[in-house]
Amino acid sequence: MRSARQIRSGFIDFFKSKDHQFVPSSPIVPIGDETLLFANAGMNQFKDIFLGLAPAPYRRAANSQKCLRVSGKHNDLEEVGKDTYHHTFFEMLGNWSFDDYFKAQSIEWAWELFTKVWGIDAGRLWATVFAGDPTDGLPADDEAAGLWPKVTPLPAERVLPFGRKDNFWEMGETGPCGPCSEIHIDLGPDRCDKKNVAGHKCQVNGGCARYIELWNLVFIQFNRLPDGKLVPLPAKYVDTGAGLERIVAVLQNKTSNYDTDLFMPIIDFTGGLTGHKYTSKLGNKTDNAFRVIADHIRAVVFAITDGATPSNEGRGYVIRRILRRASRFGRELGMHEPFIYKLVPVVVDCLGEAFSEIAERADYVSTVIESEEAGFGRTLDRGIEIFNAAAKRAQKSKDKTISGDDAFQLYDTYGFPLDLTQLMAEERSLKVDTAKFDELMEEQRERARAASAKDTLSITDKVSGQVLPETQDLHKYHTEQCDATIVGLIDSDGFKNKGRIEAGAQAGIVLDRTCFYAEAGGQVGDCGTIESDSARFAVQNTTKIANCIVHHGQLAAGALSVGDRVKATVSKDRAATKKNHTATHVLQWALQQILGKSSAQQGSYVGPDYLRFDFTCPKAPTAEQLKQVESLVREKIAADLPVTWTVMPKEQAQKLGAMALFGEKYGSEVRVVALGAEDQSRITEAFSREFCGGTHVDRLGVIGGFKIIKEESISAGVRRITALTGAGLTAYLEKAGDVVDELSAMLKVPSESLAARVGQLIEDNKKLSKELKAAARQSGADVMAEARELLEKCQKIGGTSVIVGRVSKTSIEQAREAVDMLRKKAKSAAIVLGFEDDGRATLLAAATDDLVKRGLKAGDIVKEIAPLIDGGGGGRPEMAQAGGKNPKKIGDALARAGELIEEKLRT
Ligand code: ATP
Ligand code: MG
Repeated sequence: MRSARQIRSGFIDFFKSKDHQFVPSSPIVPIGDETLLFANAGMNQFKDIFLGLAPAPYRRAANSQKCLRVSGKHNDLEEVGKDTYHHTFFEMLGNWSFDDYFKAQSIEWAWELFTKVWGIDAGRLWATVFAGDPTDGLPADDEAAGLWPKVTPLPAERVLPFGRKDNFWEMGETGPCGPCSEIHIDLGPDRCDKKNVAGHKCQVNGGCARYIELWNLVFIQFNRLPDGKLVPLPAKYVDTGAGLERIVAVLQNKTSNYDTDLFMPIIDFTGGLTGHKYTSKLGNKTDNAFRVIADHIRAVVFAITDGATPSNEGRGYVIRRILRRASRFGRELGMHEPFIYKLVPVVVDCLGEAFSEIAERADYVSTVIESEEAGFGRTLDRGIEIFNAAAKRAQKSKDKTISGDDAFQLYDTYGFPLDLTQLMAEERSLKVDTAKFDELMEEQRERARAASAKDTLSITDKVSGQVLPETQDLHKYHTEQCDATIVGLIDSDGFKNKGRIEAGAQAGIVLDRTCFYAEAGGQVGDCGTIESDSARFAVQNTTKIANCIVHHGQLAAGALSVGDRVKATVSKDRAATKKNHTATHVLQWALQQILGKSSAQQGSYVGPDYLRFDFTCPKAPTAEQLKQVESLVREKIAADLPVTWTVMPKEQAQKLGAMALFGEKYGSEVRVVALGAEDQSRITEAFSREFCGGTHVDRLGVIGGFKIIKEESISAGVRRITALTGAGLTAYLEKAGDVVDELSAMLKVPSESLAARVGQLIEDNKKLSKELKAAARQSGADVMAEARELLEKCQKIGGTSVIVGRVSKTSIEQAREAVDMLRKKAKSAAIVLGFEDDGRATLLAAATDDLVKRGLKAGDIVKEIAPLIDGGGGGRPEMAQAGGKNPKKIGDALARAGELIEEKLRT
């Protein structure tokens, strides 16, 4: 039996033998493509080539691409586990022609590989072609229909036409696309999994497991614009995609993708962990859980490896959703403790050879998954109870629907993603009121929405499909000023190679050459000016689209036209940015010295104001470790070592052990920045070597100083350091110095004694507050003693003590304690205490229950006597109080209280 490994390399070798270049899979988290959350097809990484934005470095390419279909146009999440051939994460084998061969050749080779090399039974194969589409104004692909019987032995009856849904392939709402032709396999009537579905008919594209799509040959010829229009591309391309997992199932003669060697090790291991047995049946709850978990662990391992981290938005939220679904299915297998992370090494065993990155980051990925599982696990069981209650209510409702409020509560309080609630509802044949859920979500978002409303239409969208000129930008490494010619302008209509802009215009300027640095690798794009004799353009940011550098900004004065000679000047900020960038390299080196090699860069921000460095680190570094890092960095700065850079082939850089940013796309030639080597020939002597296209200082001494001002956790296993150098550090220190001066003046001690003085103050403060408390207790004791004395001397009427009198200044709390004490001691008592509290007169009255029954109420007494102290009051029959402005009248009020009580008791 052929292993999945052999089948994967068999595909690549076949196309290598047809002069294709092997191009490694791009990361599953696309670099620099905001239209796409995750790679969903092999062609994604070639998008710029198809759009004519970048040249094709080869005419033919092939690979196995990591794909994740969980969002956007291609979303197969709901299918997972329920069928045997849709996964969230899967590998797409592909071959490409960039304006080289076209339809005939791609059909011929696909057929050759399937039937001759792999020996798939030709009698089982079918093909489909595009039937045309009136709304897009596209004709049927008669060419492809005619080619199948011509270049292969497939008879014309087994070539079927289908419409846009099946046979016009698009990666997303916008982007390269075109008609396609697919190969399907008929696996025989036994394999139908829709036998019980009324009206089901087994056929190509019929939606059952008997006919499975294996390979899609796309003939890319158009670009879909945001407004839905199709524009023809400058050239024609072939882009094919074949699902590895499906082909492996066919070649290993398995009835399910999950039964192949790509999944079984994961399923077996899950069985061992949970004690359940996998029986490979569809519609079986336990088996379904096995499949979902096996699918989802692959997806999260690859996504986290390639830089996504679970969070509450965007890519991170998709990963969180997948993990939470897996956790919930774990409950079906009786797992309540984190366990999914234990599958990481098994995934690495299965796929680590083809994708070495997952092996390299396995520890980090495990840490992240475990902490996510633990976090969700705490609320999951409680959430399931809440769901069950909501489901019960829904059962009883007319439309058998879980309310939007319930779904939202599950989301908001118990972390249940909507699709998880939907999935659980579906298992009980219930629906979810998603409209109401969305409404509640929107309300919440509205509340949280930050004030910064960003311009949604980016320059990249405006120039989509246009060919932009290449800018010569090597000057950025040598100079801050250069002469250049304007070769193009970008406004809301896109790129133009003629025309002019007037003062006030917001635009993008393209020059033939520039010394501006375009935002990349964490370093911000430069600001500055572009000036002619009569005009001044303020550059607010610089970005790169393919090989074109765009200077974004506003024309402050005059007018500029394409063809004008200008002077481009980078702002002084660049100098500060350079210091921060070089410091980031030193910091990364120092972190690895102190925390070990596993602390890998996750991202960075390098601007003129400060630097930020995110890195993997399972545990928070200690204050001591951070101090060590800081002093290592400072040592290097003080040694004033040289900074050099050189461009070399990627392989050579890797051999030198140069650090690359994980998940970054590098060309065959890379720039390596080295710290501590006198010149390029002595690069091996450098203490730090990094792949980097950024701008740097020439010597470390220029950085001037370094200070970490913050260290924090930004997500599971990822820490963030914020630090300052140069002028930013000076400003920070000046401010800190001012605070010290101010404190010195206030406390009247020199700055070196400040800490001791403040420590002393804190001590004094503690002592004083202790004394204060003791004094208060003392005065409380006095009031108690006075109250007891009042009780001893009080008048008795029948069995009732009439305790009326004045006590010393005290607080209301202490007086209340005294009254409580009196009530307990006297059993039957009418009590009125008067005292001064903070300059005010206070009266506190109480009556025991027996008196209240007889009609003597504390509240009534207080109401009567309060006016005497120029105040008011009231309360309950058992206890009441009054406050007034006139402490001198306390005696009068008490006398009147005595009279009132006597009157009541004697009647
Ligand atoms: P289907 O109709 O079966 O969902 P598709 O039309 O969405 O497939 P394409 O976008 O053409 O598929 O992708 C190319 C190939 O990738 C398919 O022919 C198939 O072999 C494979 N493939 C697509 N989606 C998945 C998936 N979710 N899991 C596994 N393989 C897939
Ligand atoms: Mg699909």
